[in-house]
Amino acid sequence: MNDVAVRGGRTGATPARPGGGFILPGSCLEKTDLKDLDLEGLGRFVVQQGWEPYRAVQLMKWLFQKDLASFDQMTNLSRTFREALERVACISRLEPRDIVASEDGSSKFVFALHDGERAESVLIPEEGRVTVCVSSQVGCPLGCRFCVTGKGGFVRNLSVAEIVGQVQAVARHLDEGRRVTNVVVMGMGEPLLNMENLEPALRIFLSEHGFNLSHRRVTVSTAGIVPAMERLGRSFPVNLAVSLNATTEEARRELMPVSRKYPLAAVVDACRRYPRTSRKKITFEYVLIAGENDSLNDAVRLHALLRGIPAKINLIPYNETPHTGYRAPRLEAVKAFQDYLVKRGVHAAVRWSRGRDIGAACGQLGRPEAAVG
Ligand code: SAH
Ligand code: SF4
Repeated sequence: MNDVAVRGGRTGATPARPGGGFILPGSCLEKTDLKDLDLEGLGRFVVQQGWEPYRAVQLMKWLFQKDLASFDQMTNLSRTFREALERVACISRLEPRDIVASEDGSSKFVFALHDGERAESVLIPEEGRVTVCVSSQVGCPLGCRFCVTGKGGFVRNLSVAEIVGQVQAVARHLDEGRRVTNVVVMGMGEPLLNMENLEPALRIFLSEHGFNLSHRRVTVSTAGIVPAMERLGRSFPVNLAVSLNATTEEARRELMPVSRKYPLAAVVDACRRYPRTSRKKITFEYVLIAGENDSLNDAVRLHALLRGIPAKINLIPYNETPHTGYRAPRLEAVKAFQDYLVKRGVHAAVRWSRGRDIGAACGQLGRPEAAVG
């Protein structure tokens, strides 16, 4: 299997290159960044330029499997083609400005983008798998009350190149022989509000000429944008994770204002209808917050709410941050909540977030400076 090209470096603590960021060579802003294009886009691009369609596959492999930064190195392309590409196209490259290693083995990658904004990814190396958690937006417009990213407001969508570039940048820093095996779109932002760039990025992750990841190893997490969930379900057999976080309409509206537009019942209904290939389960993220949603009554309601949906529930004890007043649940409350579900045959796991000490855990990514107050 040919996943993301991974060379050299060390997992985690590799020093970032000083001044690293989103490198736009030359006058790239006026040219076509080839990393913004999936196979179909590359196909359209090469044909528009008067070249043969098969060139798209060649380019895709150089860009995403070999991770090349310049046309000179694309040795199977004729010199004339390479020179022509140089005139109209460019290859962007994301480099971390900081890599912060956590005690638990995960690392946070911080990227300075070309417009001065910031994106963050988290590398989670485990036995037998290497997961990269990528961001889809700078900030998030949904403003969930408990989430640092949401508190900082929305700045902009990330481009296709910035989404796939995060995985490539992390891959370059892995130990020799390790490769990225899983991608979760669960970092900053609401991916389903950036479908325009999420969809080509997913195609690049899944393409045999791109990262060649199995759809079982790609997960998209949403706060419940119902129409986009329906569209995603029709187009991509990737894993769906839904951040539920509450069991009554009222509590959910309080914690997640997006619920006013897409109520809990509509989200659960969309999950019930969600097309599931290969007998896949839908993952429900449930952040347990002391006194808000961690009672046994909530566990009872959650069980009833999801009845009949093949579900896997991730119970995530709240990561406290100085930017919200919410508190982590008591350990006994977490255990009682999980026990109730497990005893009824529900697949419910407690996920102690990784990277808590470095602000890389769920909901800790973002622009804390913007979140203060
Ligand atoms: N916008 C998408 C994906 C990014 S948020 C979504 O909401 O699903 C990723 C996850 O982090 C969500 O499940 C969210 O509920 C969780 N989260 C946010 N803040 C958190 C915190 N402080 N502690 C634990 N989990 C948190
Ligand atoms: Fe946005 Fe997800 Fe945070 Fe809600 S939890 S504000 S949807 S990033």
